[in-house]
Amino acid sequence: MATDAQVYAGIGVIGGSGFYSFLEDVTEVSVDTPYGSPSDSLFIGEVAGRQVAFLPRHGRSHTLPPHKINYRANLWALRSVGVRQVLGPCAVGGLQAEYGPGTLLVPDQLVDRTKSRAQTFFDGEPLPDGTVPNVVHTTFADPYCPDGRRVALKAARGRGWDAVDGGTMVVIEGPRFSTRAESRWHAAAGWSVVGMTGHPEAVLARELGLCYTSMALVTDLDAGAETGEGVSHTEVLKVFGANVGRLREVLFDAVGALPETVDRDCLCTHAHDGWDLGIELP
Ligand SMILES: [Zn+2]
Repeated sequence: MATDAQVYAGIGVIGGSGFYSFLEDVTEVSVDTPYGSPSDSLFIGEVAGRQVAFLPRHGRSHTLPPHKINYRANLWALRSVGVRQVLGPCAVGGLQAEYGPGTLLVPDQLVDRTKSRAQTFFDGEPLPDGTVPNVVHTTFADPYCPDGRRVALKAARGRGWDAVDGGTMVVIEGPRFSTRAESRWHAAAGWSVVGMTGHPEAVLARELGLCYTSMALVTDLDAGAETGEGVSHTEVLKVFGANVGRLREVLFDAVGALPETVDRDCLCTHAHDGWDLGIELP
């Protein structure tokens, strides 16, 4: 295992182990953060000529439920090895009948319905080095990177996958699925898909000045959009397994098409304009 001083990756992918397990020459890097340990080691390898850090969101053996993931440690760890752009593939439920299993949606909006998660770095709690983060109110009107979204959509279409451009992801606390009433409510609000990990991942990325792009694979129709017994975990795993190969292809194409770190000039890079953070970002 390498130490974090020896490694660099400009792009991060937070997703399952299915995305990096076929790469050759993956370096496992253990990173500690002021917020504790990330979900797992970072697995750094080369994709499309770029250095990419893969982080299994739920741990390599999928032992962390969505509400127990240390999102702050995950984003901090990625930034500390050089990551400035993050792709976040995830499995979601479709809230509208037209977003059936196998749909890939690149959302442009997010609704937070989580309950118990640490969702800011700027909480006034001192870091181990004694510095204290100031109160910072991050602009989050557009929660996803516009450049990253464009790249993801183009990559999907380049592989013949007609991905949905935009839509709202509502993020629930989980780990249970929604009741029928909750799901009908989410659908009636006009929201597109429902997931359990998209928040606070996106906002914490923004707080660190990182570009974050969500790539949401629909694995089932949520309870309010279908007429059967409701979502089952078996069904979710089956659809995810059937699509993980092409999602990986799209993801890798997107990695190669993202701007170089020094060329970024999207809204994410201006997240801290006018603010004194009080702390040094890694
Ligand atoms: Zn950006």
